[in-house]
Amino acid sequence: MKPAVIFDEIYLKHDLPTHPENALRLKYFLKSLPEFDIDLLKPKPVSYEILTAVHSENYIEDVRISCSENAPGFFDADTYYNIFTFDAAIMAAGAVEKAVELVKEEKYKKIFCAVRPPGHHATKDRAMGFCIFNNVAVGAVKALSLGFQKVFIVDFDAHHGNGTQEILQNIPSIFYFSTHQYPFYPGTGSPEENRENILNVPLNAGSGDYEYAQIYTELLPQKIEPFQPELILVSAGYDIHRDDPLTDLEVTDKGVEIIVNSIIKITNNLNIPVIFSLEGGYNLHALERCGRITFAALSS
Ligand SMILES: [Zn+2]
Repeated sequence: MKPAVIFDEIYLKHDLPTHPENALRLKYFLKSLPEFDIDLLKPKPVSYEILTAVHSENYIEDVRISCSENAPGFFDADTYYNIFTFDAAIMAAGAVEKAVELVKEEKYKKIFCAVRPPGHHATKDRAMGFCIFNNVAVGAVKALSLGFQKVFIVDFDAHHGNGTQEILQNIPSIFYFSTHQYPFYPGTGSPEENRENILNVPLNAGSGDYEYAQIYTELLPQKIEPFQPELILVSAGYDIHRDDPLTDLEVTDKGVEIIVNSIIKITNNLNIPVIFSLEGGYNLHALERCGRITFAALSS
């Protein structure tokens, strides 16, 4: 079965060229896509039913009105919006929702949602950390609504996905696993926050391929297999790369390859689908190489 990438031009219109989270990121990430035999699909807007299961109606309305009446502006010190941001954000969340539908219908087993804005810092009622709506949380809630019994989320972004953890932590059929630089933005993600369905693996600045290889080839399968998930969602943040300007991790191209291949291998062994959603990653050339590595793994 061929893999698929979900993308829409609207993701490039949410943009602030002087900001690290800009449209060029996605263009570079997708540069190598024509080298692969991967279906390119369009998203649809997220359903209101699922979006309101993840975010408060007041917050959704605040985003919509801000973008239509007060743009451009900032929701917090580092989360900008323009007149396209609401539309891009509902299409980003909608991409993951659609991906869940497609794997449920067994049309695909491996899908990459090449979306912006990213999602894992967005909480129930707050935009933060460049994120508007929590795309992966939308996917997890959608999956349960379609009858998936258990969903395992792997978040390898350099930052802790505080929003994903906060939104989903009381749902025992969803497991949230995160590796992240710590202490670091957004301040959460310590082992004290761990519970039955939350595993935070904080990593010191300077951690690199060796630490990541151990975690992703040994610890991760040990945690996934007994949980018996029917779907894996991945918050794919390439700001773990040593060339990233915002972080202090030392993961090389090889390390990224080990992480992504390990996730694919686990899903193959369990014979379950996997959906990736783009989170961070702010060095354009590293993003291009990470895209190629990821598309190769999805195609393998
Ligand atoms: Zn990040």
